[in-house]
Amino acid sequence: MHVLRWWRLRSAAFVAAALVAALVAAALVAPRARASAGTGAPGRACSGYVGLTFDDGPTPGNTPALLAALRTAGLRATMFNVGQNVEAYPDLTRQQVRAGMWIGDHSWDHPHMTQLTAEQQDAQISRTQDVITRVTGATPRLFRPPYLETDEGLRAVELRHGLTEINADVDSQDWNNATADQIAAKARELRSGDVILMHDWPANTVRAIPRIAADLRERGLCAGRISPVTGRAVAPGHTPAGARTAGRVEDLGDSVRYTWPGVTFEGRFQGTGVGIELNDAANDYDVQIDGGAPVTLRTPGRTTHWVTGLGGGVHTVRLAKRTESPWTPGEFGGFVAAPGGRVLAPPAARARQIEFIGDSWTAGYGNMSTSRDCSASGGINPNSNADQTFGALTARALNADHQLTAWSGMGMVRNYNGSSPGTDFRTYYDRTLQAAGTAAWQPPRTWRPQVVVVGLGINDFSTPLNPGEPWADTAALAADFRAAYLGFLAKLRLRYGPGTSIVLTYPTMSGTPLADSVQQIVRERNSQGDTRVSALHYDNDALGLDLLGCDWHPSLHDHRLLAGALGRFIGTLPVRW
Ligand code: ZN
Repeated sequence: MHVLRWWRLRSAAFVAAALVAALVAAALVAPRARASAGTGAPGRACSGYVGLTFDDGPTPGNTPALLAALRTAGLRATMFNVGQNVEAYPDLTRQQVRAGMWIGDHSWDHPHMTQLTAEQQDAQISRTQDVITRVTGATPRLFRPPYLETDEGLRAVELRHGLTEINADVDSQDWNNATADQIAAKARELRSGDVILMHDWPANTVRAIPRIAADLRERGLCAGRISPVTGRAVAPGHTPAGARTAGRVEDLGDSVRYTWPGVTFEGRFQGTGVGIELNDAANDYDVQIDGGAPVTLRTPGRTTHWVTGLGGGVHTVRLAKRTESPWTPGEFGGFVAAPGGRVLAPPAARARQIEFIGDSWTAGYGNMSTSRDCSASGGINPNSNADQTFGALTARALNADHQLTAWSGMGMVRNYNGSSPGTDFRTYYDRTLQAAGTAAWQPPRTWRPQVVVVGLGINDFSTPLNPGEPWADTAALAADFRAAYLGFLAKLRLRYGPGTSIVLTYPTMSGTPLADSVQQIVRERNSQGDTRVSALHYDNDALGLDLLGCDWHPSLHDHRLLAGALGRFIGTLPVRW
């Protein structure tokens, strides 16, 4: 007996989940082939999508009839299977997939999950994930708790498995002996994006399918998949659609996660609008259509952000992460086309590539502020935009793809004012997700920057040594800095080869050994025959920097000047573009 307690879907705060996935960057996600099963009458435009879900299968007595009814009606659905049934009936599970259905996790044997220990919950979920993966080749991203019973503890376990909890906007009551007419009537309550709860086993549910299909057709709605990013029903067939990035991302199959600032996704679509699937309560983004003025999304949360009302035809869309979030990944589920349109293959990668490595200057800390005190204007994040940094501006001017591997406050051997001792920028440089995961980023073969710009050292020297720090004096710190920097350069050489031009940048910091140290490092590399290492001094006064960003950081005005200086300098280098 399935006694259901109503529970509104609450989107869980997005926290770092366990790292399981392979790492991908550069050429991310081509659009997948369209599924063969229909989503309504062929050629009919969909004004919206609803998520049909069927729980507790597969079962020999009912699943074949349900699949036959769905196929006849041209409907696709999400089947929240019970793990022990998948194990008992693997062929039925594969039939579900062949019929165009998506498979979700509904626990191993349908217990009251909230009455279990965290270990028992974990076992219920992981056994089911394992068997579904083994049988279908795909690991579920959606979890429906039995009886819709959930709490914070269960959601934490779900997150560790990379699962998005899906409850229901509409309960068909098919578990409660609803008639086929009553079930169809409940389905009429569905609005675009909604999810309806039904079951694999009631005979009345199968009888209701043709009526549900007719009603959806009348209302211009189609059956869609449920996005693991937003938890809402969206168009099937393209996840994460048509997006290209040069940034460091963790590939979860249906979506990607990332923490480094300035990650961008570019796509193309045909039609009057585009949706952007996001799950991110920490970061701000800029969205640009056809290269026009950016629109800023502030901590969008779990949503599909729609841009609509465009003229028909082919458009480009660009999404850029403005802010830093070293502990908190953002998640992007792809671009979706507005009704009647379609997502096209993403734009080609640019031949030129630049990587910017650094601290708050490179990350764009407070760069959009015109006042050094940002306490009254929302703090750092609302005043930061990594897509308007000297790095992003330089890359755009040179028509290059770029990565910003930058973290405010970090130094080569010493962080700002000696903070976080025992760690430094090098601790995190190799990682896909900075402090949100320990997996190392494997540069894909397609990522071979011709230019790497390093801007580290400000934090090492900007504050006097405190008692208890590991350096006897500034000279000892500088010696350690130089040794670490040389080691870091050796690592970059190994990674990107001898042809990459590496530019070591530093601003004016009078009374510190930064300038001398950087110049020594360059001389040493040059004397070893590595002539593609050079130094660029950002002369604060000569450039006219105002440092009016938050906490004396470069402002947008300054970033434009820095980009100019950097661009001119790169122009003098024998870069093998
Ligand atoms: Zn159930």
